[in-house]
Amino acid sequence: MDKKKDIRSLTKEELRAFFVAQNDKAFRGNQVYEWLWAKSAHSFEDMTNISKETRQMLEENFVINHIEVDQMQRSSDGTVKNAVRLHDGLIVESVLIPTGTRTTACVSSQVGCSLDCSFCATARLKKMRNLNPDEIYDQVAAINKESLLYYNRKLSNIVYMGMGEPLMNYNNVLKSIEKITSPEGLGMSPKRITVSTSGVPKMIKKLADDEVKFNLAVSLHSAIDEVRSKIMPFSKAFPLEELREAIEYWYEKTESRVTYEYVVWNGINDTKEAIQALVKFCKYVPCKVNLIEYNPIDDGEFQQAKPDAINNYISNLEMNDIIVNVRRSRGKDIDAACGQLANKS
Ligand code: SAH
Repeated sequence: MDKKKDIRSLTKEELRAFFVAQNDKAFRGNQVYEWLWAKSAHSFEDMTNISKETRQMLEENFVINHIEVDQMQRSSDGTVKNAVRLHDGLIVESVLIPTGTRTTACVSSQVGCSLDCSFCATARLKKMRNLNPDEIYDQVAAINKESLLYYNRKLSNIVYMGMGEPLMNYNNVLKSIEKITSPEGLGMSPKRITVSTSGVPKMIKKLADDEVKFNLAVSLHSAIDEVRSKIMPFSKAFPLEELREAIEYWYEKTESRVTYEYVVWNGINDTKEAIQALVKFCKYVPCKVNLIEYNPIDDGEFQQAKPDAINNYISNLEMNDIIVNVRRSRGKDIDAACGQLANKS
């Protein structure tokens, strides 16, 4: 038997052409496209303004590979974690984070991760595969629905900070953002989307060349090569000098401020030299620093630095006119915080 094609892999133009080839109107393609994306239909049955015969014909030709939210957990702080089942049975996680008047979706870009950051739970999962654009889009659409349901407001921000390294799944990540920002998708502004990378210089340059309009965050954690390559071993192949050059290139082309994500750990990067190195690194291009609270993933190789050490970071950065925010963890009780996504349930 022929394997039916996933209808969501067709562009709108291809869908229009399909209907013309069926002696139907091209406009039917628009209607079905709207069902598939803006209305997130899970079955052809749902498409109530399409005739029964047409729905049957679609059923015979295509499948709709839609993600299913397999399990949903709610944290005491309002954070919601979805374990999402993909069409081939693999699972990824995504998170809804409510803050003040905002709702942020944190989405996964790969099943597992190919990088080896020693402080991150996802790094312990083998990378199984890249997510398709629609699988990323669906995570966002599911969280948008949950936001409306639980908080009575639409999703306001998206961060690509779930499982995986987005820039190692470059094309699909960009396609997902195209869809999220398109008026036929969710119509969100790219300024409300942040892609977070562990820092792959070549791909940061490619983002700049592609003139993307979303925000870039780089997981820095140390501005000293020896330290960084110890906690993020893959970065041996990408020394800070190369990362710096890529970030300068990004800023030159996009004029968009970079965010550096940074966790301060006991005995790893809580020294004066570490702070000085970060301050220096922050002067290369306009940026801001998000100091992220550490979320323990095991028995304690890594420990969050003492408040004094963190305050030293803050005062030194501020003294040098560098914007710094302290990001409190959300959803820790359900393993939904940064670096904790590991398909535990
Ligand atoms: N691969 C991408 C996106 C996923 S990680 C990246 O590296 O940026 C999202 C953020 O969580 C990164 O800044 C990462 O360094 C941080 N992170 C990973 N493990 C963490 C942990 N245990 N506690 C706090 N932050 C963590």
